[in-house]
Amino acid sequence: MMAQVFKIQAAIKNYDWGKVGMQSVVAQLQKEGCNNFLVDEKTPYAEMWIGTHDSGPALIPTLKNIKLKEWLLENPQCLGDNIRKAFSHITGLPFLFKVLSVNKALSIQAHPNKKTAEKLHQMYPDKYPDDNHKPEMAIALTNFEALCGFRPLCEIQTFFVEIPELQKIVDSKIVEMFLNSKNNDALKPLFTAIMTCSPKTFQPILLQILEYFKQKQFENPLCESIHDLFLRTYDQYPGDIGCFCLFFLNYLKLKPGEAIFLAANVPHAYLSGDCIECMACSDNVVRAGLTPKFRDVNTLCDILMYDCNKSEENKFLPICDPGDPHVKIFDPPVPEFVVDSIELKKQETSYILKILQTASVLLVVKGKGSYKYENEEGDLMPGSILFISSGCQVFLNPAVEFLMFRAYCNA
Ligand SMILES: [Zn+2]
Repeated sequence: MMAQVFKIQAAIKNYDWGKVGMQSVVAQLQKEGCNNFLVDEKTPYAEMWIGTHDSGPALIPTLKNIKLKEWLLENPQCLGDNIRKAFSHITGLPFLFKVLSVNKALSIQAHPNKKTAEKLHQMYPDKYPDDNHKPEMAIALTNFEALCGFRPLCEIQTFFVEIPELQKIVDSKIVEMFLNSKNNDALKPLFTAIMTCSPKTFQPILLQILEYFKQKQFENPLCESIHDLFLRTYDQYPGDIGCFCLFFLNYLKLKPGEAIFLAANVPHAYLSGDCIECMACSDNVVRAGLTPKFRDVNTLCDILMYDCNKSEENKFLPICDPGDPHVKIFDPPVPEFVVDSIELKKQETSYILKILQTASVLLVVKGKGSYKYENEEGDLMPGSILFISSGCQVFLNPAVEFLMFRAYCNA
């Protein structure tokens, strides 16, 4: 029988919004972690997928590159009883663990809940090949920018007052209702009207707004706060309806170690930076702007949660592991995944990873050292990824300070 703890190799996605060449953390990690990986300085390296999703399966190099999913089919007990019970309908890991390197904004999107995901898949299997929901969490590795959730109502109203051009896009009654409303009932009609507006109508107005931003005519601090972002976004997606989302969605700047959790139907878009991401094993996205991919604006506007929150309220805070000062636990309210961030100083004695009753994957982001499980040993460096079967006790020996992330299941 093969060892229950072993290295795996991630799948790489070269989406056009990714950071290019060695600027990409995805490329850096894959190059250090796999000796046969060559980085092309003209190619974008957007995502690293660590999991068993069929669109980007992890491989086992020491087993002639068979898929981790196939190995788990032969060794299902390694998943742990909890995963097998709670996710008996899927084969493989219930979560998908990723690294993202974002160079330019990537699609205004939301992820449907389970029920809507099933319905969309049934109705449009070619556009929605996945029937699973996709709650997701991002933890910043570098300074990371994102749009997330609707802004407080007063902020959106301020934009519409300060930038009168915004009022010209849609029926004045819809705008009036919105400007006079004290709750967010009028937000959905307004947002839907704008997002479904024809290019002939909105593009000249968008150009006018662009001119204003270029000339720096906005004195209002709120307008000023998106001045650079607006110009940058327009430059990346000229004439795109998604540019209007900057007036509706919170603009978040995360520092390394800060996180956001995106529940079903929360609108969001990543703008720039590198992050760890974990989600339910799914590729289910409804998009409406800032993307060359298929857009389904009506579905998006329909499923969104029109809850208004302050920017800071969208941050997702970890808890300190009561049993281990090296570990911060990011535990969102879904059964599919939890992520631990683990920081180790250079130590004399070896460090014991906590024993979990589910399978887990461990990604080394910084540091060097080694791991030991029973008679198996191996070195660890940035980009090394370990698959750890349920119930295994793994020892780590850091030679240089470690920063690692470990994803597992919470069922
Ligand atoms: Zn997303």
